[in-house]
This record gives sequence, C-alpha cells and structure tokens, in this order.
Amino acid sequence: MRVEILCSGSRGNSIYFGFSDFGILIDAGKPKKMLEKLMLEKGINPTTIKAICITHSHGDHIGGLSLANKYSIPVYATVGEWKGISGVNDRLQRSLETRYGIYEPTYLGGVTVHPFQTHHDAYEPVGYAVEPDDGPRACVVFDTGKVDDDMLAMMEGSIYIIEANHDRDMVAESSYPDSVKARVLSDLGHLSNEQTAAALAELISGRGEQIYLTHLSSSNNLPALAEATVKAALARRGFRAGKHYHLEVIV
Ligand SMILES: [Zn+2]
Ligand SMILES: [Zn+2]
Repeated sequence: MRVEILCSGSRGNSIYFGFSDFGILIDAGKPKKMLEKLMLEKGINPTTIKAICITHSHGDHIGGLSLANKYSIPVYATVGEWKGISGVNDRLQRSLETRYGIYEPTYLGGVTVHPFQTHHDAYEPVGYAVEPDDGPRACVVFDTGKVDDDMLAMMEGSIYIIEANHDRDMVAESSYPDSVKARVLSDLGHLSNEQTAAALAELISGRGEQIYLTHLSSSNNLPALAEATVKAALARRGFRAGKHYHLEVIV
C-alpha cells in the first residue's frame, strides 16, 4: 500500500492511498486544480481514484470536492457531515451508516475502509482505518479534541497519520481570542503534541511502524517541538526512532 500525504495543515488536507490499480483519498481539502497538480507531481492519475472518504465538512477537508464531479468519484461521508457538504453530484454521494453505534465498513475491492468516531466541533466527524486485503492497517486521524479507547482500538496498525496540531503553551500565549483558545484546547478541538504523543505511546509496539505527524498549526506549533514531544514519549516506552519506528513531520 502506497501512502502519499498530498497536503496537510489548516490550509488543506488530503491523503492518498494507492493499491495495484487504483487509489483512494481521505479528504480533499485544497482546490481541485491544486489537488490535481499535487497528484500529477507524484505520478498519480486522478482517473484512478476510486473513492474519496471525508473526515468532516470543514473547509480544509472538503475544499476541493469538485474533483469528485469531474472524475465521477464516489464520496463517502457520515450522514451528519453531508449536512455541511454541498456541490457533490447526487449520484456520487454515499452515506456511512452505523449499526448498533458502530460504523459499517466499506469494501472497495482489495481494501476495506473502517470509519470510527472522532471528537471535533463538526456534525459527525470520523477518522478512518484503511485495511488492504493483504496487509496491516493504516489510520488517519485528523481533527479531534481527544483520543479515546474506542479510537485506539480502531487505529492499531502499521501506519499512523495523525494530527499533532499545537503546543498547549503556545496556544495559551497566542494572540487568539479566548473563545478560540478554549475551542482549540477543548475535547472537541484539536490534538496537542502531548495528546498525540500519549496516543502513539499506547499504539506503537516497536515493529517498525511509520508515523506521520500532520495538521500542525503554523502559529501554535513547531515541527521540531512536535517531533521531540512524540520521540520523548516513545523513548519512555523504550522505543527509538529509526530503529523501532519511523517518524516524519509533515509541514
Ligand atoms: Zn476541523
Ligand atoms: Zn482541519
């Protein structure tokens, strides 16, 4: 399974997963033309995209969804998040349904996509575990104010694409209005470096897992700080970067 972080951060998020003859996108958060350019630069033909799975309907995750209409790509989102999405052709809209409170997985021929609940100030946000028939899972966790045990259970795999949004002290000392600070730091906001580090310390078992830290705030975080915070938490578990796991900070 090939993974490409096409873009990450408050200006737009999109992740590509590639399989033998098709690919899927998690979120399409930059304008269509930009997404096309980012894909073509990596040798990805947009006509091979089989599905776009949306985490939630904030602009930095859906800003380029007209891509779906152009290439006739089905778009998967929760019933709640469809309330915040417009402009996708009716025939391409797919709703993620729950049964007994658990999201039904979607099988796309060679890969199963498992949505799971996240905690963010959107309608019905989700993260995704992407599980190819022939290999371990990858997970994508973008905007969420916390990581709970149900999420940890769904996230376990070999590739982690997770937000490390902010440093709590930098948010507290920032020029943001108090209401914005409270929102970012709340259980329905974004993950701090410390929260991301704590979640990864639960998940990583030293089998060479790949971690991508994503969705860093440009004003309230520093790549080196996010990296150091996660590495310190994993070092306390006896794991070293490059030996037990691999870490890349996406800026
Ligand atoms: Zn959001
Ligand atoms: Zn976001």
